[in-house]
Amino acid sequence: VFNHLVRAPEDPILGVTVAYNKDPSPVKLNLGVGAYRTEEGKPLVLNVVRKVEQQLINDLSRNKEYIPIVGLADFNKLSAKLIFGADSPAIQENRVTTVQCLSGTGSLRVGGEFLAKHYHQRTIYLPTPTWGNHPKVFNLAGLSVQTYRYYAPATLGLDFEGLLEDLGSAPSGSIVLLHACAHNPTGVDPTLEQWEQIRQLIRSKALLPFFDSAYQGFASGSLDADAQPVRLFVADGGELLVAQSYAKNLGLYGERVGALSIVCKSADVASRVESQLKLVIRPMYSSPPIHGASIVAAILKDSDLFNEWTIELKGMADRIISMRQQLFDALRSRGTPGDWSHIIKQIGMFTFTGLNAKQVSFMTNEYHIYMTSDGRISMAGLSSKTVPLLADAIHAAVTG
Ligand code: PMP
Repeated sequence: VFNHLVRAPEDPILGVTVAYNKDPSPVKLNLGVGAYRTEEGKPLVLNVVRKVEQQLINDLSRNKEYIPIVGLADFNKLSAKLIFGADSPAIQENRVTTVQCLSGTGSLRVGGEFLAKHYHQRTIYLPTPTWGNHPKVFNLAGLSVQTYRYYAPATLGLDFEGLLEDLGSAPSGSIVLLHACAHNPTGVDPTLEQWEQIRQLIRSKALLPFFDSAYQGFASGSLDADAQPVRLFVADGGELLVAQSYAKNLGLYGERVGALSIVCKSADVASRVESQLKLVIRPMYSSPPIHGASIVAAILKDSDLFNEWTIELKGMADRIISMRQQLFDALRSRGTPGDWSHIIKQIGMFTFTGLNAKQVSFMTNEYHIYMTSDGRISMAGLSSKTVPLLADAIHAAVTG
């Protein structure tokens, strides 16, 4: 009965790893997927995570019963505090509902389905470019996807005029997806002053902001600094949604742990919103998994563990920042044509190199370096040892 099926293409991002795995070359380098690697090129489990996992295993009072549809209560409360700040008026006034979801993707999907069902406007505006999964997630959630200008290839920076123009002409009430920090794939974020202008425009047009926060702490190394754009919008008392992921900042990729928060106008509305979120989640996967959320809750709850986390997180962010400098210096010293200062200016896990699809495929074929065809490289996949190879490859691609 499935004979008629055509083979679906690989996911454009995960497909990079599939191709990488097939390459027998000993020098191959995978800069496709956005996952942190150590200087030795190995995946990293944070010490604080290992420690908490030991405690959880040794605690014989724990069981593996189903948790509620909305997830662990502690986890939800502490996740809201992490993104909105301990002194957030929205939290104090109980205007926030937070539900544990399957990492960032699941949080976006649950939020999208909730909006498609209950919000009067079904159009969501995504930045161009954006994470490749965004349009698919929101389309399948039942929203119609539009785009707003974000990145200016000519300057390798923010197209702020274009952004204001496009959001300014979006129909009133439209949903706007905003990357909270460390924009993927460009690494280009608005300044706080620009965020303030975006906020004013969004509020004056009654647009609904939906933040995707997949990299809190990864951009600057500070959890609070990276949450500033979101907090700016919460401070004005207006409504918004936030999807949080603990994949990157706690290295919990495969545990699929994240949260969706919806900030409402009143505590009463928030509790009705939560009741409807349950109706979205129950037929989708019943209830979320317990393990990852227990780890996160334990770390967020305990000030010593929390401090340990912030130190390890800063270590990851700093290593990425140092990779930026090393790659920039390596290109400079080779005299590679072009202004590569965007490598050190861009923020977060990725550099949007400006290399085109032809140059990317040259680098893959000749140098066994794998990345997405839009020229995005994961700085977290680089090390001092591999920077020279990448710089050689870029030099050859640009001058060849
Ligand atoms: N949003 C953005 C912008 C991302 O880059 C990612 C991860 N690549 C996600 C959401 C979701 O990741 P996850 O579902 O693994 O938390």
